[in-house]
Amino acid sequence: MISIKPIIKYDCDVLIAGGGPAGSGLAFHLATKGYKVIVVEAEKFPRDKVCGDGVSPIALAELHAMGITGTEKFALANEINKVGLFLKNDKVFINLSKPEHLPFHARIIPRIELDNWIFEAAKKAGAVYMESTRVIGYTITHNAAIVELKQGQKKLSLKAKILAGADGSSSTLARQMNGAKPNDEFQLLGLRAYYENVNGPTDRVDIYFTGESFPGIFWMFPKGPNGANIGMAMVSKTLPQKPSHVKEMLINHINNNTDIAERIGNGKMDGKIEGWPITFFNAQSSITANRLILVGDAAGLINPLSGDGIQYALLSARWASETLETCLQKNDFSSEAIYAYRKKVDKELGYDFALSNLLVQFPRNKTFTPVWMLILTVMISRAKQDKEYADIIAGIFEGTYPSYKALAPSFILKSLLQGGKDIGKTLKDFMADPASMMNSGLNITNTALYMMEAIKDNPQENGRWVLNTISKTAAVAGHVFQQVRKK
Ligand SMILES: Cc1cc2nc3c(=O)[nH]c(=O)nc-3n(C[C@H](O)[C@H](O)[C@H](O)COP(=O)(O)OP(=O)(O)OC[C@H]3O[C@@H](n4cnc5c(N)ncnc54)[C@H](O)[C@@H]3O)c2cc1C
Repeated sequence: MISIKPIIKYDCDVLIAGGGPAGSGLAFHLATKGYKVIVVEAEKFPRDKVCGDGVSPIALAELHAMGITGTEKFALANEINKVGLFLKNDKVFINLSKPEHLPFHARIIPRIELDNWIFEAAKKAGAVYMESTRVIGYTITHNAAIVELKQGQKKLSLKAKILAGADGSSSTLARQMNGAKPNDEFQLLGLRAYYENVNGPTDRVDIYFTGESFPGIFWMFPKGPNGANIGMAMVSKTLPQKPSHVKEMLINHINNNTDIAERIGNGKMDGKIEGWPITFFNAQSSITANRLILVGDAAGLINPLSGDGIQYALLSARWASETLETCLQKNDFSSEAIYAYRKKVDKELGYDFALSNLLVQFPRNKTFTPVWMLILTVMISRAKQDKEYADIIAGIFEGTYPSYKALAPSFILKSLLQGGKDIGKTLKDFMADPASMMNSGLNITNTALYMMEAIKDNPQENGRWVLNTISKTAAVAGHVFQQVRKK
């Protein structure tokens, strides 16, 4: 008996929801390999995206490999060679060393330009874009991914072999795949405003820590000779409840911080303050399934310590294209086949992201903010004297050093030694002027008393924090255990 297999007519090999760096990056790689790709994008290019616009050397290396860095426009993008870290009256300026294996120093590139470059490259490679169209849901059948779309008032559906979710931090596809929206524990909120006519230096990004906003940070990233991107990122749970109050926090910081005021000079805000959620990696969530894959922010690939996401969007796009190429060659779209990508993400980023999550978890408890301010003071003081130590701090913020470098014994030892040195100096000062130093002693005692009171007053919140810290510590321990087992 002859069995007749039905011929299925697919609209494309891979349908990608979202055309940001992750979606257009994936489209570029697959289209370059000759696959039929449709990118469905809610907006119309060139489109803006709320961001700090900091493009790390690792992200630039990916763009370089895609042939996007040879243009005149890229040559004009603002290069960054220094980072300033500011804490109350203390500050340190660190020269950024360029890692030898990477072609460029970091740059500040407004997303309206950067994302358009990647979109143009993907289109040139053969990807087809459906702009001003949203993916609203999907159904996976035994032989296809049926994707539901909305274009204005019109609804339509397309059939693909694989559906890729690159639809950002509020991903529709991630929500449907995981059956819930992201947990608050894994979210930050970012705000950004553009300023014009600000002061230099143009090659230095500044990061400001304050007790009020901690564990959030404020930044000023110059985007050229006059303009700058000024913003802040904060853990969602520690935010004031109303969005207007969050914007007020940014304005207050801009108005009251003398260091940032010096850089703004007579500069003025251009446009308004815009906000955007940042969802970071939750190892419990799925990023692959039968005929489904998530990349970039949709997969939570943002480092909570640095807020960097563009490099992970581009890296995950490349890794996903490698897995999908194998799936397409073997005509195997099972969850097991696509899971090879998840394994790659875990191998390359799992430990670092678990550790970054844990490091951000500690200061989530506002009770301990005074302790963290003290630790930051010690780190800044050490960074002023020790180039290697400063490089690690700058590299973690720039996204070129994995955060586990902060746990290297030499780094911890130097931090502890610096802490001891600072305490030694305090004791020496005490001997020289006991009366004035009595105040410092009283301050420390008051801080300790305040912390004990705060823990007592809010046992529920502190209990929850302890449980979350334990679960994030267990995630890090899991990675360490796996590495030890491999050795
Ligand atoms: C305030 C702030 C500051 C940041 N600063 C930095 C920084 O300085 N450096 C850095 O590296 N990272 C930074 N990030 C993170 C960075 O912006 C993201 O990691 C990056 O944009 C991820 O790219 P993506 O392609 O995954 O998602 P996105 O860039 O968000 O792209 C997703 C695309 O999907 C489209 N879309 C959404 N829903 C749908 C749908 N249902 N159907 C079709 N299309 C859809 C959107 O229109 C969008 O074009 C910052 C983030 C924030 C919020």
